[in-house]
Amino acid sequence: MDRCIQGSMCAMTIDGTHMGPYSPGTGMSMVYHYTVGGIANRFRMVKGGIGNLSKALVRALEAHGGEVIYKAQVKRILIEDGRAVGVELRDGRTLSARVVLSSIDANKTFLHLVGEEHCPSDFVHSVREIDYRNGYVQIHLTLSGLPEFTGHMAYINEGDMRWIASYIPSPEYVNRCWQQYRKNEIPEHPLSYYHIPSLLDPTAAPEGYHACTFFSHYFPCEVPEDRHRDMANIMADRVIAEMARFAPNFPEIIVDRAVLTQRYFEKAFGITAGDFCHGLLHPGQMWNRRPVAGYSDYRTPIGGLYMCGSACHPGPGVTGIPGYNGARRVLGDLEGTSAAA
Ligand SMILES: Cc1cc2nc3c(=O)[nH]c(=O)nc-3n(C[C@H](O)[C@H](O)[C@H](O)COP(=O)(O)OP(=O)(O)OC[C@H]3O[C@@H](n4cnc5c(N)ncnc54)[C@H](O)[C@@H]3O)c2cc1C
Repeated sequence: MDRCIQGSMCAMTIDGTHMGPYSPGTGMSMVYHYTVGGIANRFRMVKGGIGNLSKALVRALEAHGGEVIYKAQVKRILIEDGRAVGVELRDGRTLSARVVLSSIDANKTFLHLVGEEHCPSDFVHSVREIDYRNGYVQIHLTLSGLPEFTGHMAYINEGDMRWIASYIPSPEYVNRCWQQYRKNEIPEHPLSYYHIPSLLDPTAAPEGYHACTFFSHYFPCEVPEDRHRDMANIMADRVIAEMARFAPNFPEIIVDRAVLTQRYFEKAFGITAGDFCHGLLHPGQMWNRRPVAGYSDYRTPIGGLYMCGSACHPGPGVTGIPGYNGARRVLGDLEGTSAAA
């Protein structure tokens, strides 16, 4: 008999980890998801797409006199006498600042932009130990129709219930995927979830079409460059084949697809190993050890340099919490008050 509730909970325990459902410590990831996502861990969407959230944040910043400089990659954080005094951009421009906040991961911030020569050696060793092995595939599909579920899943065809679903039959199912992934193999029957945002928000796809996204865990971390594309496509084919077991029309309604792995996100956003957590959700990398022990208060060993992204407490996801806490820490330090972070 299937044990879907246990299977689904196991899938949540391994999200953002390099672990299987029976590995010690995975409870941390589940606690994290239920804490930041609320007790029902409800999936929320931004109307018009997640980009609208960024646009709203930019409007708020500009209303307070701020300015966003686009397409401006930071090449170096400028350090003088042990203090951060600004940044140098890739195009050669420099910007000076009273404080610098980094929302990228600790590895990139300290070992690439600051330079380890400016950091205490025990801090550098700790940063080097951060585990970023997070293997996944994100599949974006254009659909010409909607999946029609059959058999015992047919009930979700009603209303807009099928906008989001997964089928994870048991903890053993998740464990089988983990055992294959840890050997650098593609899971034979990948575990995945999908959502169809255009079912709730028609602006998410052109008229007559639907947008659909699958997220699937456990795409191998160590894949040779020349086999990467093929392996990503094999994994996507397997995810789609699993879906077709329950919605047989699914392959026929796919008009177009884009398959993105952690390697894409590494290249596109400069995230170490493509780990969207900026440091996995392992017990040794959470709470007062995030990003590393001794630096969970958003300050860093470099005066005037702060952290404010997912690498910090409490961790990843579109929560705004690390940014809020980091900003309060900076304000408290600048004002000489003790604003709690
Ligand atoms: C496939 C996928 C699916 C996800 N699904 C969800 C979900 O459903 N729900 C959820 O809550 N979270 C989800 N996440 C996680 C979420 O996107 C991240 O946790 C969140 O974006 C982290 O925010 P951040 O601001 O800390 O860092 P980031 O979003 O990584 O932002 C860092 C920014 O810094 C920029 N940058 C990097 N290097 C430089 C440089 N040298 N100079 C200038 N800029 C630089 C990057 O381009 C990026 O814009 C998902 C992530 C991925 C990859």
